[in-house]
Amino acid sequence: MRRIVTRRRGGTGELVLGLAAERNLRWAAVELTGVAEEARRRHDLSPVAAAALGRALAGAVLLQRISARSCRRLIVTVTGDGPLGRVVAEADHRGDLRGRVGNPAVEVPRGADGRLTVAAAVGRGHLKVFRELADGSSWESQVELVTGEIGVDLAHYLEQSEQVQSAVLVGVLEGPEGVRAAGGMVVEALPGAPAAALATLEANLGALTGVSRLLLAGSVEGLLEAVLRGLEREAAERSEVRFHCSCRRDVLLPKLVALTAEERAELADERGLIEAQCAFCGARYHFSSGELDPQ
Ligand SMILES: [Zn+2]
Repeated sequence: MRRIVTRRRGGTGELVLGLAAERNLRWAAVELTGVAEEARRRHDLSPVAAAALGRALAGAVLLQRISARSCRRLIVTVTGDGPLGRVVAEADHRGDLRGRVGNPAVEVPRGADGRLTVAAAVGRGHLKVFRELADGSSWESQVELVTGEIGVDLAHYLEQSEQVQSAVLVGVLEGPEGVRAAGGMVVEALPGAPAAALATLEANLGALTGVSRLLLAGSVEGLLEAVLRGLEREAAERSEVRFHCSCRRDVLLPKLVALTAEERAELADERGLIEAQCAFCGARYHFSSGELDPQ
């Protein structure tokens, strides 16, 4: 069947949720090239920083959506001792994604095959997942990084912290002008999944050469076909994801009011304006000194 790929608006992508192997496997797949490119552009990320953040964003939205319990917001934080610094990726129930890295300009030597080495940029450390549930409660859990490549680390997290057997694939493909493809997939084995289905899945995963190339067509179909080959599958739900930051001027204001008069004087420009920049999206907000005077 030929599929017509429609060009989506900049900064968006698509997430598909479904089941496979007679409902013994649960999966989520996301194509978020536009989101990863928007993050790269906003933060002026180096190729390896863009790859790391794109992978973390894909991981965050996949974990947020595949969660059995209704999860309102999920934040993946990767804290390593490498030159990239901390990577933070956030996804919420509306499909809004945002994120940042400690050192946007980081460069590390490429692998022998010319590939970006995300693990070298991340280093050793831990991965933390924070979940906020629909009832307002929240919890977080963390694991040691296994490889620093982020996908394997997320699968390790699901196994250690949530006792879920899963495969997590995330990838970003760079091009001369930015992100060419980005996204990923998570497949969970539900309790009692037959060994034959798991063996087929494992063989499919073993034959994969790269996740992001399968997303070059601009949809998740190629990735689904490769990962679930030979397994009957059904897509249950499709939704849009987008780069969108929840920062607001009126939320930022009270934080600046807490500054002392001296601090404000130091931060103000020649017009007496203080600029605050959102670390998640790069948006700049300006406040006059008078606005910041404590009431
Ligand atoms: Zn923002």
